[in-house]
Amino acid sequence: MITSATRYQPDRDELASLLSDHPSYRVDQLWKGLYDEGLPIEDISTLPKALRSDLAALLPPALFDRMVSVSEGGETHKWLWGLDDGDAVETVLMHYADRSTVCVSSQAGCAMACGFCATGQEGFRRHLTTGEIVEQVVRARAAALPRRLSNVVFMGMGEPLANYDAVWGAVRRIHGDLGLSARHITMSTVGLVPGIKRMAEESLPVSLAVSLHAATDALRTELVPINSRYPIDMLAEACQGYVAATGRRLSFEWALIAGVNDTKEQAIALSELCRELRAHVNLIPLNPTPGYLTVGTDAAGVTQFQKWLLERNTNATIRRNRGTDIDAACGQLRASQNAKSSGSAGSTSVAAPRRKDQGGSGFVD
Ligand code: SAH
Repeated sequence: MITSATRYQPDRDELASLLSDHPSYRVDQLWKGLYDEGLPIEDISTLPKALRSDLAALLPPALFDRMVSVSEGGETHKWLWGLDDGDAVETVLMHYADRSTVCVSSQAGCAMACGFCATGQEGFRRHLTTGEIVEQVVRARAAALPRRLSNVVFMGMGEPLANYDAVWGAVRRIHGDLGLSARHITMSTVGLVPGIKRMAEESLPVSLAVSLHAATDALRTELVPINSRYPIDMLAEACQGYVAATGRRLSFEWALIAGVNDTKEQAIALSELCRELRAHVNLIPLNPTPGYLTVGTDAAGVTQFQKWLLERNTNATIRRNRGTDIDAACGQLRASQNAKSSGSAGSTSVAAPRRKDQGGSGFVD
């Protein structure tokens, strides 16, 4: 029995126990209003007014509007949400010709410490709850109208597989109650092997994207420090297991960093790995972040890297950067206002140390 919770946290049984003094169809009405229609409880007109206001007080929203930015003629929206403990996370909605995708956060901050990622530079603060994750999707779905929200990607702030239970609870809700197909839900991971193995045992075959960024251990450990615990061989074996268990295609994310991982040697090593795993590669030039001094590969270098892969029959697409102008691009979420003026380009140092003065919440002010 719950006494109070955020709006999208309780499951149906928990809501039923909250409404145990009412006819059972009230649960159906509440559930339909929240999930099918995405309405604020106050606007669920099938419920009596007094009950609506009781429920609205018992089930407050988890996310408070702090800021919303819209760019590219309305094609990209970014929200900065305040949470009940004063923390903040971001959600990005992107419209494409054939789909509308929401990129959700799974943690406030991140413990994985990838040096090139703005969230990694901040460090970890806390896990998000299932309710906080589901509510991001519901809010984006409402904002997307009249277009239909078709895809959810766990590529916002945080490492989803480090918050497995809450994230998987959200996946089930997004699939079962918001009605998105499993193949349109993408889990993006830095490569937490135990999490990938757990996913292989789940009944929902979601798409798996692994943030590889380097195809040799020495370089990958430099870029993605967790590689020292789960090196490429071990990661590849877990990915193989996932593909075998689910039949889903695997994709590798590869942020191209000038002079670092955009070399022919890396392209060759990557295509060998892709051949074994029948994986697809998503290429994206590194987006600038405050605490990392190395720049993204230029357009010609990106095309060259793709060519090296295609020549070896490795399927590789170049992803367009979305939301760069509103700091909504991959790895840029919650970039600080202060950092914006201090610039990040110019150097080619790989081991740019984390700048201690910039991990913070300047964006939230
Ligand atoms: N922790 C998860 C999901 C969040 S990041 C993961 O690592 O997959 C989503 C994607 O953005 C990852 O592929 C991540 O490596 C990439 N990314 C992070 N910082 C980036 C940057 N500055 N430029 C381009 N991509 C970046």
